[in-house]
Amino acid sequence: MLLKFETLLIHGGIDGDEHTGAVTVPIYQTSTYALPGIEKHGKYEYSRTGNPTREALEKLIAELEKGYKGFAFSSGMAAISSVLMLFNKGDHIIFNEDIYGGTFRVMKNVFSRFGIQYDFVNVNDKEILKNTLKKNTKAIYIETPTNPLMKTVDVSRIGDFVKSHRLYLIVDNTFMSPYLQRPIELGADIVIHSATKYLGGHSDIVAGLVVVNSEELANKIHFIQNSVGAILGPMDSWLVIKGIKTLALRMERHCDNAEKIYGWLKGQKWVKRVYYPGNYQNLKNKNQMKRYGGMISFEVESYEIVKKIISNLKVITLAESLGGVESLISIPYTMSHASMPDIEKERLGITKNLIRLSVGIEDVEDIIEDLEVD
Ligand SMILES: *Cc1c(COP(=O)(O)O)cnc(C)c1O
Repeated sequence: MLLKFETLLIHGGIDGDEHTGAVTVPIYQTSTYALPGIEKHGKYEYSRTGNPTREALEKLIAELEKGYKGFAFSSGMAAISSVLMLFNKGDHIIFNEDIYGGTFRVMKNVFSRFGIQYDFVNVNDKEILKNTLKKNTKAIYIETPTNPLMKTVDVSRIGDFVKSHRLYLIVDNTFMSPYLQRPIELGADIVIHSATKYLGGHSDIVAGLVVVNSEELANKIHFIQNSVGAILGPMDSWLVIKGIKTLALRMERHCDNAEKIYGWLKGQKWVKRVYYPGNYQNLKNKNQMKRYGGMISFEVESYEIVKKIISNLKVITLAESLGGVESLISIPYTMSHASMPDIEKERLGITKNLIRLSVGIEDVEDIIEDLEVD
């Protein structure tokens, strides 16, 4: 029986425990396993290589993203770094210019030291994309919607481009979750998540996931995961599985609340501009995203207003991160994008007066009241 997506969230991967009938997957808090004999291999031998609780999460995310195989890592950055280790000295990767700050940093300051070449460009511009392509280009790496300006990248269009040039398409799907967007169905080869965000969903874990669309990529990522060892522990794997069970319910509420806040922000005279994926409707595949998600950025008229909003907060928390049940607010200029040069921030539109809101699932009226300025 082919289970529907919302049923898979509850029963996908490994459902419960066949030995005891427990309805949740056991937490196999073990580093090693008794082997059947000197020359006989067991199904599990050592928990870096494989752990049943982690495997339950890995199977689940592969089913949700419609991929061939999933892998769980100790953080989103560990997942991203493990994917970048697929490439060799002399390979070239094209990144979209709006990319998570940590991805930019690890590419620029770590992987470049191993001879991997890169460009950060606007991949939405066909001419720029064509001109950035080199003989040694091996992959295009994107996020959609982007952070913090919520621009969308057309995954199907980039998917066609990578097919015709024999490249890999890597998509960081953290902002949408597989409930709202499934990049492999749109032509991606590798999907990455910071499961710290919507998949975990409760701001209580740091975790990363990778899903690949082929056996060849699965063998390579498994080799890197086992060799480099940035694996997710059994307890945290279990917490991500628990978070995923309510993903559909939470995402619907995040989206409902964000839509209402978007409408309200547009009517405020102290708000200069609102950035929300619903603003961009240029996608080849109109169904790329099921709804617009729970992230909104907005620019206010002055830094005085920014300070006023932040000092009046009662429900929303000023904090890094996103995707939890609680609303979080941040100022990208001095927080997530602090390490980006000022000129670059101004060029992209990340001003001091830009506020990013991760809309939680509280009563939307309480969130709006928290943001009121007059
Ligand atoms: C948070 C985040 C990451 C990094 O994930 P960690 O779990 O913090 O290591 C990567 N990509 C995006 C889009 C993120 O929001």
